[in-house]
Amino acid sequence: MKELEDEAVVLRTYKSGESDRVCVLWTRHHGKLRVLAKGVRKTTSRMGGSLEPMGHVKVDLVKGRGDLWITKHVTHLERMTNLRSEYERIAAGLAVVEVVDAIPTDEAADEGIFEMLVRVLATLDNTEFHPELIAASFFFKLLAYDGSEPVVDFCVNCESRGPLVAFNAEVGGTLCANCRSGTAISADALGLIRRILGGDLAGVLRENNPPGSGEVMALAHEAIEVHFGKRLKVSRSTAPLAPHIETPFP
Ligand SMILES: [Zn+2]
Repeated sequence: MKELEDEAVVLRTYKSGESDRVCVLWTRHHGKLRVLAKGVRKTTSRMGGSLEPMGHVKVDLVKGRGDLWITKHVTHLERMTNLRSEYERIAAGLAVVEVVDAIPTDEAADEGIFEMLVRVLATLDNTEFHPELIAASFFFKLLAYDGSEPVVDFCVNCESRGPLVAFNAEVGGTLCANCRSGTAISADALGLIRRILGGDLAGVLRENNPPGSGEVMALAHEAIEVHFGKRLKVSRSTAPLAPHIETPFP
């Protein structure tokens, strides 16, 4: 019987039968796998807790029918208790796994994406970093990794250096006043995106809700949705209602 061992992050789960659960995993070496976890919804199951979305696990799997694998053994690698104890961190983490789940699966195993996924979850678990721009930063980094990094240093239409006043994901980035289309962008938001993509991500995430954050979140969601060509459900719930309005949270 075919077996495999790998490290994985749980992207999504859904119920199957009376007490089973199907988990969609992004593995380090075997790409995206669908895995049947038998009996995990029973209260006595030791595997249940680790097979929740965002769980970072080590799995031993046995080949089942079709493309389905069956869990033989699951070990929790990171508990991520900070991530799981704060609403904003959970929402950001769910947006991240939803976006990774939307990556077309015809692609072969991608260890680079696995590494980014593990690192973004560790960042969300680290209270040194503020959570509000973590998901947005991940989306921009994922676009860059995929070779679709938006242009933020000149006008995508006429290549003028600016001033750059708008951002349009459909055309690939920032625009000057003469060519403007899409969404207006402030100098603060533009500065944040340049820092996120330009090597100062940690510096940005150490700042508590810096000016322009709301815009950056909205633009990151727009850019990732345009990239995948579809609306994403969970990711939208972390976007502010409008720029500069704080996430409504009692
Ligand atoms: Zn222009």
